[in-house]
Amino acid sequence: MAIGRVARRDRAKTRRKRTYVIPVAAIVVLAIAAIGTGVALGVFRAAPDGVESVEVPVPTGTPATSFETSLAASQDASGTETMVEVPDVLGKPLQEADMLLEIAGFTVTHVATPAGESATGTVLAQDPASGSVMVRGTVITLTYADDGTGIDPTSSRNNPSAAGTGRVYVVCIDPGHQDKANNEGEPIGPGSKTLKPKVTGGASGAVTKQHEPDFALKVANRLKKLLEDQGVKVVMTRTTGAVDISNAQRAEVANAANADLFIRIHADGSTNGDIRGLSTLYPAGNDWVKPITAESLSAAKLVHKELLLTTGAVDRGIVERKDIAGFNWSKVPAIIVECGFMSNPVEDKLLASEAYQAKLAEGMTAGIMTFLRGD
Ligand SMILES: [Zn+2]
Repeated sequence: MAIGRVARRDRAKTRRKRTYVIPVAAIVVLAIAAIGTGVALGVFRAAPDGVESVEVPVPTGTPATSFETSLAASQDASGTETMVEVPDVLGKPLQEADMLLEIAGFTVTHVATPAGESATGTVLAQDPASGSVMVRGTVITLTYADDGTGIDPTSSRNNPSAAGTGRVYVVCIDPGHQDKANNEGEPIGPGSKTLKPKVTGGASGAVTKQHEPDFALKVANRLKKLLEDQGVKVVMTRTTGAVDISNAQRAEVANAANADLFIRIHADGSTNGDIRGLSTLYPAGNDWVKPITAESLSAAKLVHKELLLTTGAVDRGIVERKDIAGFNWSKVPAIIVECGFMSNPVEDKLLASEAYQAKLAEGMTAGIMTFLRGD
């Protein structure tokens, strides 16, 4: 039940923050919403750096999503118990089933059974059954069809047979954002009731008007090529802007791939056009990311150092973050590179140039390869 405790602490912090970061009118609206539903809707301060970008409040006037509704229905009078209805995941691919259950607040374990007629990886049974109302954090056992190739994502990472000579490293690249923002809420971490927009729109260039999602994809494509040249297997969270993938879902892509590193590519924006420079973020400071903090920091340091060498960018440092859904949902080491400020006219033009994009990809590759090889 550690997750439940974290969620409650998180919520308490969010409430304290609210008292000084949002207008009185918004507090009244929220108070009414909270009394009416018992749900603490996630509200964030606008972050100075642009990751998962400007952290807009989940609109209180819009219809509740089914997720919010299920939370509202599951709270008792004290507002602290967290009973949740188990979703139906029978027949779904294992990864999707995991994600649905984790988003609902459950912990998942897997049992393999011979595939028979079923497609490998399909969920054949779930215990407790769908429709049961269980305490948040309850372990749900999924029995899935296995054709013997070992698709269980929980068992292949750190598998001794995968180590040693001939090891193929896997890197998951997440080009930040997408063409259209999706401001529906999703839990900031597994089991959390604090919601955050699924994916924001990103920054745009002060001079060039380039759009951060396009920039991120260009750098990601270059990075993919360079890593593949090094024999690394690359998994992309998206290869086009015309997608709708939340930050939590992006982390789940990295988890499903058992990635050795999950690297997320972003650019910053600020209302102050003078600010420029490159920073590298890593997850730290909450129980969700504790298992990945040390390795993530190690990767962040190596990648950051190489990026400064190849780009000559202003050094804005290595920054720990505990408020990023795409980190909190990750079970593999994760970093975000904020490549520069699109709001700075000089850096905007650099970020738009192919030569600078190549330098970014080269720096990332050098740092990643050092991290993967552990030398
Ligand atoms: Zn961004």
